[in-house]
Amino acid sequence: MNNKYWIFDKSQKELEEYCAAKGFKKYNAEQIMRWIYSCRLFDFSKMTDIPKPLRENLAGNFNASLSEIVDTQYETDAGGSSKKYLIKFRDGGTAESVLINYKKRKTLCLSSQIGCRMGCAYCETSGMGFTRNLTSGEIISQILTVENDTGDAVTNIVFMGMGEPLDNIGEVEKSLDIISNDKFIGIAPRKITVSTCGLLNVLNSLNFNEYRYKIAVSLNASDNTTRSMLMPVNKKFPIENLAALINGKKPSIHNKTTIEYVLIKGINDGIENAVKLIKMFSPAKVKFNLIPLNKEQNSIHLKNFERPDDAAVDNFKSKLAKAGFTVTVRFSKARSINGGCGQLKAKTINS
Ligand code: SF4
Repeated sequence: MNNKYWIFDKSQKELEEYCAAKGFKKYNAEQIMRWIYSCRLFDFSKMTDIPKPLRENLAGNFNASLSEIVDTQYETDAGGSSKKYLIKFRDGGTAESVLINYKKRKTLCLSSQIGCRMGCAYCETSGMGFTRNLTSGEIISQILTVENDTGDAVTNIVFMGMGEPLDNIGEVEKSLDIISNDKFIGIAPRKITVSTCGLLNVLNSLNFNEYRYKIAVSLNASDNTTRSMLMPVNKKFPIENLAALINGKKPSIHNKTTIEYVLIKGINDGIENAVKLIKMFSPAKVKFNLIPLNKEQNSIHLKNFERPDDAAVDNFKSKLAKAGFTVTVRFSKARSINGGCGQLKAKTINS
């Protein structure tokens, strides 16, 4: 890692301030960012509409190298394919990203932290502890690095990789300003989902009612005892408070809150749990995404949890659907390469 600024860590405002401080025009910042994010040109000397002294200044003070792909793993199934990347950042820290190809959609699952401090009991990432937050540049560079590898544009983003995005909301929001800006990376907010374990204080500060990106809340239980066992965050932000916030959101057909629910055999997969969920939420406000537990082969961390059988999953889904909810079941793509929800754990992939 050298002492130069990493260009991907700079917001438009920060780059404008830099340009102004060096005696250049503020609008040069947008030109630079268009070259980088729209044209994918990472060589300052070739940015032809920028004054030569600024190009030289940038080359002397900024680094525009992509992150390094350390390892990949690929899987195909009937519906599409998945590729898991182990990406190394400038300080040697690593995180995983998963590209899911399904029909014309290319969804990239991004990490927001190295590890996670939320301690969810069903999650492989929590077993590795917390190392650090990713910077906005490290979040953005996952997209650029993967696109550089495949040659294809990512169409959708989900923050469901390693880490709790709302625990690093400053850098996540900073990255989203560039990712969703149609002058730069240009992925529309309706194609971006920010997932959370339910940090109510941050959800409130984001003005949840008006939030421009889709929100997915990991619920995973229908009562406080079970949820607190699975998700320690519930002790601070109990399920009824989370439900009240979600139920208070203005109804919007296009932007219902997604309730993520990892189904674990004998823990939260009974019909009585579905009945409680039906009482807790309205079909006008939420849709359910059921995720039968993804368990990494030989996982020690998840040794006490089992994936439910298909009949239990079907029954749970039917109960919710009959009550009027939209329900999907995510038999996670990338499961055999441990790239499904709650399975990301930065390591050498083949280890
Ligand atoms: S499920 Fe998400 S919030 Fe919970 S420990 Fe895993 S990465 Fe963190």
